[in-house]
Amino acid sequence: MSYIRYKNNNLFVERVSVRSLASKLSTPFYLYSEGNIIENYRSFLNNFKKSNPLICFSVKANSNIQILKVLRKMGSGADVVSGGELLKAIKSGIKPNKIVFSGVGKTEDEIKLAIRKKILLINVESENEAVLINKIAGNLKKRVAIGIRLNPDINAPTHQKISTGKAEDKFGLSKTNLISFCFNIKKLKNLRLNAISVHIGSQILSENPFKKTLKVLEEIIKKTKIYFKFVDLGGGFGIAYKKSDRQINFKNYSNLVEKFKKKYNCNIIFEPGRAIVGNTAILVSKVQYLKKGSNKTFAILNAGMNDFMRTALYDAVHNIIPVIKNSKKNKGTLEFVGPICETTCKFIKYKKYQKLNQSDFVAISDVGAYGASLSSNYNTKPLIAEIIVKNSKARVIRKKQDIKNLLKQ
Ligand SMILES: *Cc1c(COP(=O)(O)O)cnc(C)c1O
Repeated sequence: MSYIRYKNNNLFVERVSVRSLASKLSTPFYLYSEGNIIENYRSFLNNFKKSNPLICFSVKANSNIQILKVLRKMGSGADVVSGGELLKAIKSGIKPNKIVFSGVGKTEDEIKLAIRKKILLINVESENEAVLINKIAGNLKKRVAIGIRLNPDINAPTHQKISTGKAEDKFGLSKTNLISFCFNIKKLKNLRLNAISVHIGSQILSENPFKKTLKVLEEIIKKTKIYFKFVDLGGGFGIAYKKSDRQINFKNYSNLVEKFKKKYNCNIIFEPGRAIVGNTAILVSKVQYLKKGSNKTFAILNAGMNDFMRTALYDAVHNIIPVIKNSKKNKGTLEFVGPICETTCKFIKYKKYQKLNQSDFVAISDVGAYGASLSSNYNTKPLIAEIIVKNSKARVIRKKQDIKNLLKQ
C-alpha cells in the first residue's frame, strides 16, 4: 500500500490532504506517515523472519523521539552513535538490552554512560578504544559486553561519501588486525567479547556485497574459533529514490543469513535506518519566487540545505512533486533551489515539469532518513516543524524552533 499518494490530483499522506495542512501551517515542514513506518518495520522483519533477528533501528537516520516511540512499540531496539542518541533511545522507552553503540570516536563520558546504562553491546572500532573501555570498566568494577567491528574491505557500490567498508575507510578493524585482537582479548579482563559487527555502507542496492561480507565473517569465525553470541550485520539497505534504482533481493540473502545463524548458533542483529524511515516522509515547501535565468527558470523554495542537506552533502537525488497536480506544461528547464547562500543549496532540475506558479506548494520526496536529523541552523534559520500523520490525524512531533533560541549567542 502506498501511504503517500495522489487522490484526484491532490497529494495525500494517509488520509490527510497536504494542501490543507500547508495552508494552515507555516511551511516548510517535514510530514511523515506513521502507517508507512510501521509497514516498513514489519516488512523488514518479515524478510528475515526465519533468523528472528534483533532489529536495532539506526537512530542517526531519524532521531525524533516520537518516531523512536513508534518503533519501540513495534519491538525495535536502537543502534546509536553518540551519548545523546543513547539517552534519546532510552528516553523513548527502548530497553538498554536492545541498544548497541557504534562509532569510531566514543569519548570517556560516552563510554561511562553506556556502561552505567548496561546496554547490550559497545561495538568497538579500534584496539585503543577497547583498552580504554577496559580501563573505565575496571574503575567502575564492571564487566562490559563488547562487539568488535570488522572492516571487511568490501567495495559496496554506493556513493563514495557513504561507503564505510573499504580498507581506506576509517571504520572498524581490518581482517588481520581483528584476528590478532581476538587472540589478545583475554588480556582485557573487564571485557566480554560477545559480538562481531559489520556495516559496509549505506544506500546499497544489491545483495552481493552483503553476501561477500558473510563470507568474510565465516572466515574470521573459523580462523579465531571464537564463539560470538551475536553477529551484528549492520544496516545499509538501500531504497529506490529514482525509478531506475533496483531493489535488493532479500530472499536469497535472508536464506544465507539463516544458514549462517544455524551453523554458528548465534543471534543476528540488523541496524537498518534508511530502509525503515526513508520513504515515509515528504518535506512540504512553498515556491517563494520564480526567477528567469539565462537558460532555465529557478523555482526558489523556502526550504534549503539547512532543512534538508542530502543533496548538498552527497549529491542525492530526491524528486520534487507538486502538491496539486495539473496538466499544463512549464516552458523550458526548471531548477528547484533553496534560499541558503551557497551554490550547493539546490535540489533537482527537470526538463519537463508541470506549470508552476509562485506560492504553489511542492514536496521533496523520500526525506524520512537523514533529513530532519541532519538539519542545522545555518544562516541562522530555525529548525522546521516535524509532523506525523496517522490515518486522518496530524500531530506535531517537533515544533518549529523559536527564533529566540538562536539569538542568545
Ligand atoms: C548509519 C549506520 C547504520 C544505518 O545505515 P542505513 O544505511 O541507514 O541502514 C547502521 N549501522 C551503523 C554502524 C551506522 O553507522
